[in-house]
Amino acid sequence: MDQTVKSKDMQVFCIANQKGGVGKTTTAINLAAALAKHKKKVLLVDLDPQGNATMGSGIDKAAVERSVYNVLIGQATLDQATQYSETGNYDVIAANRELSGAEIDLVSMTERDKQLRKAVEASEKSYDFVLIDCPPTLSLLTLNGLAAADGVIIPMQCEYFALEGLSDLVNTIKRVYRNINPNLSLIGLLRVMFDGRVTLQQQVSSQLHNHFGEKVFDTVIPRNVRLAEAPSYGMPGVVYDPSSRGAKAYMAFGSELIKRVKSSKA
Ligand code: ADP
Ligand code: MG
Repeated sequence: MDQTVKSKDMQVFCIANQKGGVGKTTTAINLAAALAKHKKKVLLVDLDPQGNATMGSGIDKAAVERSVYNVLIGQATLDQATQYSETGNYDVIAANRELSGAEIDLVSMTERDKQLRKAVEASEKSYDFVLIDCPPTLSLLTLNGLAAADGVIIPMQCEYFALEGLSDLVNTIKRVYRNINPNLSLIGLLRVMFDGRVTLQQQVSSQLHNHFGEKVFDTVIPRNVRLAEAPSYGMPGVVYDPSSRGAKAYMAFGSELIKRVKSSKA
């Protein structure tokens, strides 16, 4: 067998949106745990210096020996930096504040936007899914995420300015596609923190369908306090309270994504 046993079926997805507080990390953690519950082998890469995905997976970001920072600047391989989330049952590349210095270190490197991609390609482990939790900026970190990915999943709240912000992100994805990563595609838009009783949210939701059609995932993630509580226990919501509405929605989203990936290959 080839030295690199990377599964050909491995799907690398960025969870991105240049706005903060829109549910990226909640989606990354819960999707990772949901896919693991669906018997998939998952790696979650935390690309945000805040380290919320790391902590929310039950890993102490202050005690991390090798983080995504070391991977990006070539001090560690992906496999050397891999940790296991016992609460989520998936692997994690952790992040902490050290990562905020990576921008400066990366600038002087050749192929500075392809460091994560090279590390993922060199991994000897075979994952079904690699999920990358991006920071809320269009920085070199996010570019590394987009360059490493096959697709982008955009979590969004159905609010008044949501569509406006979205066009910036879609333009960025197009630019990365043209200049850096011809494999990149928009996988879909995930409506999160949704409250169907709010008329504005319904309106934005139907505008989304008009603009993006099938790119809008069928699954809708409701606003659910259990999802917000879970990180303080170092657990994904789908593990913390599997019977909650939020957990059930993320499990359904996992199934929908698995189906989409299958049908796109058929
Ligand atoms: P981002 O990573 O985009 O900054 P987060 O996932 O950290 O966003 O979410 C921002 C805040 O909203 C967090 O406090 C999180 O717990 C909360 N949150 C996210 N999704 C939901 C949801 N579906 N229901 C309730 N609270 C949520
Ligand atoms: Mg986040």
